[in-house]
Amino acid sequence: MKITAIETLLMHAGGPPTTSIATNPTAQSGSVWAARNWLFVKVHTDAGIVGIGECSGWPRIVETAVRDLAPLLVGQDPTHIERLWGRMMGAMMGHGMLGTVGAGAMTGIDMALWDIKGKALGTPVWNLLGGKVRERIRVYGHAGTPERARELVGRGFTAIKTGGLSNPVERVAAIREAVGDDVDLMVDMHGPPWLTTKDAILLGRALEPFKLLFFEDPVAPENRNGLKRVQDAVAIPIAAGERLATIWGERELIEQELVDVIQPDTGRAGGITQMRKIAAMAEAHFISMAPHSGSLGPVGEYAALHLLAAIPNALILERIEDDVAVRDQVIWPVPKVVDGHIEVPDRPGLGVEIDEAIVARHPSLGNVSVPGHPDDGAYEPGSWDEHVYVQSRFRRQRYFAP
Ligand SMILES: [Mg+2]
Repeated sequence: MKITAIETLLMHAGGPPTTSIATNPTAQSGSVWAARNWLFVKVHTDAGIVGIGECSGWPRIVETAVRDLAPLLVGQDPTHIERLWGRMMGAMMGHGMLGTVGAGAMTGIDMALWDIKGKALGTPVWNLLGGKVRERIRVYGHAGTPERARELVGRGFTAIKTGGLSNPVERVAAIREAVGDDVDLMVDMHGPPWLTTKDAILLGRALEPFKLLFFEDPVAPENRNGLKRVQDAVAIPIAAGERLATIWGERELIEQELVDVIQPDTGRAGGITQMRKIAAMAEAHFISMAPHSGSLGPVGEYAALHLLAAIPNALILERIEDDVAVRDQVIWPVPKVVDGHIEVPDRPGLGVEIDEAIVARHPSLGNVSVPGHPDDGAYEPGSWDEHVYVQSRFRRQRYFAP
C-alpha cells in the first residue's frame, strides 16, 4: 500500500471572529470560541483506504505545514507509522523545534496513518495499541456557575472543571454546594503569568478543603521552578502539559514529577504515536493522563477515546459540550455522554466519518482569539475582564476569599 495524496479540510468552528459571548449566543466563552477552527486531514492510499485525522495547534497555520509535509509522505507505505513520523520530525528540525504548531501538523497525519492501519486490518485503533483496559471513557464538562454545573450533573456528568481566574475559591465553593460531594471538581488557572508562585500556593491551599481531582496550570507553564514549589506545597494533584508537544516537550514535567496528571492535547502533541509514549513515560512515574481538548474538534476526540481505552493510566477526558452545533453535525457516529462516560468506538480504524458538506459550509473566517471584545466593555485594564494573560494583581483579599 502507498500514500497517494494528502488533503486538508479546514472549517470555522465558532461565530464570526470579532463576535464575543455578548453578541453571539452560540459562543460559550467569549471570542476564544468565536475564532476557533478545526483542521481535518485525509490521507489517501492506492488501496482505496482513506485515513482521517485532526490537527489543532493554530489550524490555519498548521494547514500550510501539512501541505508542506505531504511530498515527504506521498509514495510511502502508510503502515510504517514510526518511520514516517521520523521523516516528518527530521523535516521539522531544519526549522527548529516548532512546538505545538509543528507537532500539530504531524498529529493529523499520524492520526490518519493509525486510522489507515486499523481499516486495513479491520480492527479498531485501540486494538493496535494493546487492546482495551476499559469499555468507556470518563469525561468532564465545564461550568462557570453553579447553575451550569447542576445542569451538567443532571445530564449525567460526574466531573466538572471551572476556570479559576476570577474569585476561584468563592466559585468552587458555590459549585461544590450545588453539586454535592459525589461530583469531582477541577480548577484550571490557565497559567497566568501575573499570578505569583506564592499566590498560586495560597490559592491551592484555600482550595484544599474542596478535594479537587486536580489543580491545573497554577503558574505559567514556562515557570517550572514555580510549578515545583506549588507541587511541594499544595495537597491537591497538579495537572499541566496542554501547551507542550512530543515526549521531549512533556519530559521535564514527568521526569521531575512536577505534575500528578499530564495533559497533552490529542490534536497537537504529535499524534497517537507520541501520546502513547507520553502515557508510558507518565505511567513509570505514577502520573495519570487527562488529555486536553479545549481547542479540539470531534475527530481528535475519537483518537483520544481509542488512546484512553488502551492505556492503564487514563484518568479522564476533557469534553467540550454545547459549544457549537456543528460539533455533532460534521462527524458520525456522534459520541454520546451517558452516565458521565463515552463508549469506546468499535469500528475499524478510528471509526469516525467526516461530512465534508458541513465543512464546506463553514469556511475559516480567522483563527486568532480577540480577548475581551470592546463591544463587551471587557479587556479593561485593572478589571476582572482584563485578559487572563495580562491581568495585573489587585483586590488580593477577595481573590482568596471563600
Ligand atoms: Mg487548561
